[in-house]
Amino acid sequence: MSRDKVIVIDFGGQYNQLVARRVRECNVYCEIYSYKTDLNKIREMKPKGIILTGGPDSCYVEGAAGCEKGLFDLGIPVLGLCYGAQLMMHVLGGHVCKAPVREYGKIEVIVDTSVPLFANVSEHTICWMSHNDYIERTAPEFQIIAHTDNCPAAAMQCVNRKLYAIQFHPEVLHTVEGTKILSNFVHGICGCTGDWRMDAFVANSVKAIRQKVGKGKVLCALSGGVDSSVAAVMLAKAVGEQLTCVFVDHGLLRKNEGDEVEEVFGPSGPYNLNFVRVNAKERFYEKLKGIEEPEQKRKIIGEEFIRVFEEEAKKIGAVDFLVQGTIYPDVVESGLGGESSVIKSHHNVGGLPDYVDFKEIIEPLRDLFKDEVRQAGLELGIPNRLVFRQPFPGPGLGIRIVGEVTAEKVRMVQEADAIYREEMAKAGLDRSVGQYFAALTNMRSVGVMGDERTYDYAVALRAVNTVDFMTAEAAELPWEVLGRVASRIVNEVEHVNRVLYDCTGKPPGTIEFE
Ligand code: GLN
Repeated sequence: MSRDKVIVIDFGGQYNQLVARRVRECNVYCEIYSYKTDLNKIREMKPKGIILTGGPDSCYVEGAAGCEKGLFDLGIPVLGLCYGAQLMMHVLGGHVCKAPVREYGKIEVIVDTSVPLFANVSEHTICWMSHNDYIERTAPEFQIIAHTDNCPAAAMQCVNRKLYAIQFHPEVLHTVEGTKILSNFVHGICGCTGDWRMDAFVANSVKAIRQKVGKGKVLCALSGGVDSSVAAVMLAKAVGEQLTCVFVDHGLLRKNEGDEVEEVFGPSGPYNLNFVRVNAKERFYEKLKGIEEPEQKRKIIGEEFIRVFEEEAKKIGAVDFLVQGTIYPDVVESGLGGESSVIKSHHNVGGLPDYVDFKEIIEPLRDLFKDEVRQAGLELGIPNRLVFRQPFPGPGLGIRIVGEVTAEKVRMVQEADAIYREEMAKAGLDRSVGQYFAALTNMRSVGVMGDERTYDYAVALRAVNTVDFMTAEAAELPWEVLGRVASRIVNEVEHVNRVLYDCTGKPPGTIEFE
């Protein structure tokens, strides 16, 4: 399938994935590559445009992340962002050095609205800046097309060579007209048609999977999460009964969640596949007995999960394909795509699990960002409550219970969390807050109920807003919503007599509460 493609060259900036996401929001397909990628390889990819990201280095320092001069002679439009802009100027004969005044935060930029890059952008526009260095002198033939009070060259262009550079970050939402600027680049300047759409992606993928699988047998581990659900439905549409989905219910899911998964994928659901639900909660609770340390809990749950899955897979026998719900950020963060250092090691990227007998792996969502996975899910007709399910860790409630996990504590946190979610939905906050959940602390304290002394557990409510889940702020929930949730939890959940709200951001906290 040929489609217009823009490539993002990653210099290690923290927003590199955002750049690619914003480009895709303009309906243009986009991939991220390290700055170390060979120029010939880039040429072979025939991109319609190239975007250079920001980065932590100073381009004039020995050993800084660099690029070949030839990158700017391919005849392909290039847009440099922040570090990428500085590097372009540095390589092409301008002068970059430490700025007399560093800029950080939202800054008013004055742009030349007559140039294509800033078509339909306001002359005074708020942009996000984050730099210590600045472009003191642009490279020859470049014309300055934006400035701020402290930054004389905030954007420049060399139209003949199709080169563009901006000091600010259009990919960050604080840059009010950032998407418009990126759209001007990919559509107006690169001439991309904007045909990257989920309906086409889904239809093409289903066709391609059908061709690849032929008459083969396919096995998929379902967690009930968005990624594995979307992958499973895509496979079900493509190969129907040749697919077996194994759903390991570890008893650490949110209230009713196991049944909800069964409703969609089980025999009474709309798909024609083999569905195996393993109710393994006793096994998991048994293994978790007496364990308090969160990392240890994670490990135990992960290992037990594999063991249960393995046992089921053995019953099924050899299969031809194993499905995994890998998505693009997993690929990039594993260091396979971009540059920004390996953030997490994903066991499911690159390495193949050795505990199931299969020939090949299928990763139908490997090119997609999370929001695109959701769109694909909607295209496939998956119910909203699954598609917009909040991020939920693999070890589930096992790590939302501080200290030892018991069946009784799982019940408490399930009930409390269900009340919290119900009230958030009623208040219309369920989609606007990034992530929220209830956790059970390991603290008991004295309370009074019906004139009687209680000595019971405290539930902690967490709600955060985040763009990228790397950093987060505690959400300022309306007091009346918190009050209602607190009183319902204390009234309805046995052995909980206190509700606390977690006001900590990330850092120094984490989004989870374990
Ligand atoms: N490290 C460069 C500077 O400080 C670029 C920063 C960036 O790309 N955000 O100016």
